[in-house]
Amino acid sequence: MVRAKRWTLKTQFHGFPKNSDFELKTVDLPPLNNGEVLLEALFLSVDPYMRLASKRLKEGDTMMGEQVARVVESKNPTFPVGTIVLVHAGWATHSISDGQALQKVLAEWPDSLSLSLALGTVGMPGLTAYFGLLNICGVKGGETVLVNAAAGAVGAVVGQIAKLKGCRVVGSAGSDEKVEYLKKIGFDFAFNYKTVTSLEETLKKAAPDGYDCYFDNVGGEFTNTVIKQMKKFGRVAMCGAISMYNSTGQLLPGPSPEHMIYGEIRIEAFLCTRWQGEVKQKALKELLKWVLEGKIQYREYVIEGFDNMPAAFMGMLKGDNVGKAIVKI
Ligand code: NAP
Repeated sequence: MVRAKRWTLKTQFHGFPKNSDFELKTVDLPPLNNGEVLLEALFLSVDPYMRLASKRLKEGDTMMGEQVARVVESKNPTFPVGTIVLVHAGWATHSISDGQALQKVLAEWPDSLSLSLALGTVGMPGLTAYFGLLNICGVKGGETVLVNAAAGAVGAVVGQIAKLKGCRVVGSAGSDEKVEYLKKIGFDFAFNYKTVTSLEETLKKAAPDGYDCYFDNVGGEFTNTVIKQMKKFGRVAMCGAISMYNSTGQLLPGPSPEHMIYGEIRIEAFLCTRWQGEVKQKALKELLKWVLEGKIQYREYVIEGFDNMPAAFMGMLKGDNVGKAIVKI
């Protein structure tokens, strides 16, 4: 008999999540049926989308999320013991799967590279950066790109892919340490949005001729300020709106219609899950290649211990992380 620990949503979040919103439960898992595997989590992801998606959970449900797991018992020949998989098993130490929704990590994954990257730069956040920048913004060499939450899991990859494509890249982040990191990984201009006296003036200074592409992770007032500085026919990839996820009051009005219309700006929201199958595998292989060649650098914010899942999640929402926030078991 295997005992699984699970973090559940005890109470719907109201505003910023609190420790008391979570409850740790232990359940006994049943024996495996034919075709099933038992999975043990190695690394779990904590992501901003969980704050939004939790609205769709019932109180008492297990928190959702992806993990890198090892098959520790198998009655499914496709996934023998020892196979490493990606699985959406939620915040759980152990889970049972019939194999249908399991994804093996890339066959070419080298032993030297931490498997945690399959939840970050060479995983969902990396794919979000890749498709958002290349397919939604349709970025071209020579253009000026702006990205916010730039030192995070998605943002740092956006900036580095934009540099690989020959763009000028501006990034904002919430601490001086993060700004230093952005400069180190090649951003042309980086600033701390919490300490600048005027966001509008800083954005103008960073790109006096305006922005061709804006990869938006933050939304709200930041976005309303940026839209006024987009070039004609500018493109906005609306990836996330983390500044609003914990809001309890009325949402802010959107960007200035005058600037949108006269600038003929295109804003497109997207979910990274739009790209599946071969196109997704090709992107993952390209991200892995860039990492192995040192063309994309990465940092991780690793919290140890399953019991610290809520702390890791809340820390990430507060901005404690440089790079991808991960929990290691
Ligand atoms: P992340 O950037 O690694 O972590 C979240 C970061 O958001 C924090 O480190 C913090 O950094 C910043 N932040 C928190 N509150 C903020 C605020 N009020 N204003 C500005 N920044 C704030 O997270 P991620 O996984 O890369 O996700 C980034 C964004 O992409 C999120 O909005 C997420 O929902 C979105 N996303 C969308 C998709 C999709 O398919 N559309 C997929 C993945 C992620 P600072 O210190 O810089 O404030």
